[in-house]
Amino acid sequence: MKILVLGGDGYLGWPTALHLSHAGHDVAVADNFARRQYDHELGVESLVPIETLATRVCAWRELTGKEIKPYIGDLTDADFTYHMISDYHPDAVVHFAEQRAAPYSMIDRKHAVYTQHNNVIGNLNLLYAIAETDRDIHLVKLGTMGEYGTPNIDIEEGWLEVEHKGRKDRVLFPKRPGSFYHLSKVHDSHNIEFACRIWGLRATDLNQGVVYGQQTPQTAADDRLATRFDYDAVFGTVLNRFCIQAVLGQPLTVYGKGGQTRGIIDIRDTVRCVQLACENPAGRGEFRVFNQITEWMSVADIAHLLSDTLIESLLEITKRYAHRVRLEALRPTVNWRTPLPRAD
Ligand code: NAD
Repeated sequence: MKILVLGGDGYLGWPTALHLSHAGHDVAVADNFARRQYDHELGVESLVPIETLATRVCAWRELTGKEIKPYIGDLTDADFTYHMISDYHPDAVVHFAEQRAAPYSMIDRKHAVYTQHNNVIGNLNLLYAIAETDRDIHLVKLGTMGEYGTPNIDIEEGWLEVEHKGRKDRVLFPKRPGSFYHLSKVHDSHNIEFACRIWGLRATDLNQGVVYGQQTPQTAADDRLATRFDYDAVFGTVLNRFCIQAVLGQPLTVYGKGGQTRGIIDIRDTVRCVQLACENPAGRGEFRVFNQITEWMSVADIAHLLSDTLIESLLEITKRYAHRVRLEALRPTVNWRTPLPRAD
């Protein structure tokens, strides 16, 4: 199959592109390098050094003889998005290309507006580009379990059967997330469902849990193929931060009783889930939703997991690059609840 991976320079997009290429698919990637810009803006960097996209693509060709075609551009630029879709004409588009940190979206008004504009408009341009190029192109969109929030009822896969005043219907599961970032993903899901309904597009929304791990067999094959490992307070995830603290002999920062429970998924399962979705496309007009987690864990459970062999490789990586850790990057910097008073 021809598969276009949007956000192919990112933490998940790059390993997914390698996994799909290794599995025999014809793969292209697209990115505007926004993620590398956030590092400059916040003064942080991936613990594991990462190469430029050009070097990564060359290294993959050198090692395997396989080509990955790069498209450099921004999904919010409709001309770029239309050109890329008609030029490459993929069978499936895997859409990772969004601003993905809840704390980043909560820094202030500017970051909230940027996040929703980048994510919602980029996704909308993509829907139009697919609809006007070829409605059989299957969209595999990365959503997140965080879209649901933490309701006091069981979370279903995207849809809910309801009976109200004696009548029944199937509606999108009501979502009550906890950040402007997560809300951008909810808006995306609604726009995609609508596009399937009115234009007959094929779409799969993959609501993945928080991804952990830094290596897949392909990224581990050569240092030049490594993907990101973020541990800072804005982009880092709790498991990554705990690894750093464990290796440096620092206390693990469990806030409160550590009862905040999240679904988590191993990066090697992420890439396999995406492959399965691409190879088994949704039907015409179908908006398909899958919730994908390896397990549910509280922050306190995650702290205990540090003794588990599962994450030995993460600890090894952390030890190897411990000299690059900047402890101040671990400190929370975003005040979620109170916007700063305006200066004027
Ligand atoms: P990431 O920031 O590392 O990768 C996203 C990539 O998209 C970056 O390389 C960035 O430069 C690019 N990008 C952003 N906006 C773009 C635009 N307008 N045009 C072109 N490129 C753009 O993030 P990630 O962790 O790889 O996550 C990818 C996707 O997976 C996100 O949509 C996120 O919501 C979803 N997801 C991630 C996790 C996780 O734990 N990392 C969990 C569930 C879902």
